[in-house]
Amino acid sequence: MSQKIKMTQRDSQIRKKDFKEVNRGYSKTEMLLEAKRCLQCKVPMCVKGCPVEIYIPVFIECLLEDKPKDALKILNQKTSLPAVCGRVCPQENQCEKNCILGMKGESVSIGNLERYAADATANSEDENIYVEKNGIKIAIIGSGPAGLTCGGDLLKQGYNVTVFESLHDTGGVLRYGIPEFRLPKKVLDVEINKLKKLGMKLVLNTLIGRTKTIQDLFDEGFKAVFVAVGAGLPTFPNIPGENLNNIYCSNEFLVRVNLMRSYDFPNYDTPVYRGNNVVIVGGGNTAMDSARTALRLGAESVKLVYRRSENEMPARLEERIHAKEEGIEFATLTNPVKFIGDKNGFVKAVECVKMELGDPDESGRRTPKIVENSNYIIETDMVILALGLNPNPILPSLTDNLEVDSKGHILVDKNYMTSVPGVFAGGDIVVGDTVISAMGMGKQAAKSIMRYLTNN
Ligand SMILES: Cc1cc2nc3c(=O)[nH]c(=O)nc-3n(C[C@H](O)[C@H](O)[C@H](O)COP(=O)(O)OP(=O)(O)OC[C@H]3O[C@@H](n4cnc5c(N)ncnc54)[C@H](O)[C@@H]3O)c2cc1C
Ligand code: SF4
Repeated sequence: MSQKIKMTQRDSQIRKKDFKEVNRGYSKTEMLLEAKRCLQCKVPMCVKGCPVEIYIPVFIECLLEDKPKDALKILNQKTSLPAVCGRVCPQENQCEKNCILGMKGESVSIGNLERYAADATANSEDENIYVEKNGIKIAIIGSGPAGLTCGGDLLKQGYNVTVFESLHDTGGVLRYGIPEFRLPKKVLDVEINKLKKLGMKLVLNTLIGRTKTIQDLFDEGFKAVFVAVGAGLPTFPNIPGENLNNIYCSNEFLVRVNLMRSYDFPNYDTPVYRGNNVVIVGGGNTAMDSARTALRLGAESVKLVYRRSENEMPARLEERIHAKEEGIEFATLTNPVKFIGDKNGFVKAVECVKMELGDPDESGRRTPKIVENSNYIIETDMVILALGLNPNPILPSLTDNLEVDSKGHILVDKNYMTSVPGVFAGGDIVVGDTVISAMGMGKQAAKSIMRYLTNN
């Protein structure tokens, strides 16, 4: 059984000092060798594992014939963001997990091949740009992967799509959360520019719920609205000292670095503290991104504190491997109980306790329990909290009668319609925490919006 062709990376000791992309992408020879591994299954299980149902064997066959433009056309039938997905989707839990080759050996590297197809065609003009317009206006709130996918699919069916974004730039977490060394901004720009060429109108600096309401949008002639505002409200541990100076939440830290470009200092003079001994609390992608970003900003040591073991960490395996290669220390089965400050109110230490794993909770993960009398101190000058994100409480002011659950997620029916007729929702604001699940919901919602508007 053949082994998958591994993607090469930049040397860990060099890359940890800059923000350039870590993964190099396949060469043509590597791509051809990997594409050859695909069995072109008649009933491709990989497609069943893809939330946007890309015709995987067909795009791989195009690559094998060295026709990346044709491969991109197949990808574009289902996704507007192949270069993004090829880089950040957890394929190991989706298409690649279902790949038949994975049963006995190593699955096809579908994500790496998707990335190759998108990168090889990044500079080529899109051929099927013209779509006859039907004059029907749809509003999308939020320009993350859910909003861009829903908008892209509606554009391709002739609808007039306007995306309202509260920030001064597009892409949602893809731009302000995921760092340059995993997803370069210029890669995202290529995909968003293609949507703009298709006719997507992007209205920036517009916070729906404050600048205008959903009712205003209907009054302006929009016939349906898709709410894709993500979930950007940070969670705090609720322990003593969490308001000390130099304790950041991951979102604020990453937004300052990514969106306000403090990684490009001194070209962009953005005020973000550069810690020497940084402690990150959490074990997801956000924690890993914060840790590796702090390292690149010049930290001497970065320690990740996580209350479960590495087996339970939600961060992608690739990110964990890359983080360790770069020298991030993992303090697993450890939980902070108190932050300790100096006389000026700046954090100087974290008091932690050791944890052990008990029985599984409702999510199936084993519940961590405190080991009595195991307290110890980690010295630090900066802490970044990456404990998960929740819906923003601004939601009720989007419109009257929008039903949400106890955590603030918008409630939708099986067609992604909310409690307000004509208002649909998807992405992290409904459920989920991956780019591809947000895209899958955007796609389903686009279909439902078309059915709703044509009464089918
Ligand atoms: C640091 C980090 C790293 C991650 N890494 C990965 C990864 O490697 N792989 C993966 O699959 N997933 C990853 N995720 C999760 C993934 O990015 C999200 O699940 C996904 O972006 C959700 O998409 P969305 O479109 O629902 O929302 P978002 O991407 O959050 O986009 C929502 C957009 O709506 C805008 N908005 C909010 N409120 C309003 C309003 N009232 N009016 C107008 N605009 C508004 C926001 O500014 C934002 O631009 C990561 C998340 C984070 C935070
Ligand atoms: S399941 Fe694997 S081998 Fe079969 S078509 Fe999909 S990628 Fe190719």
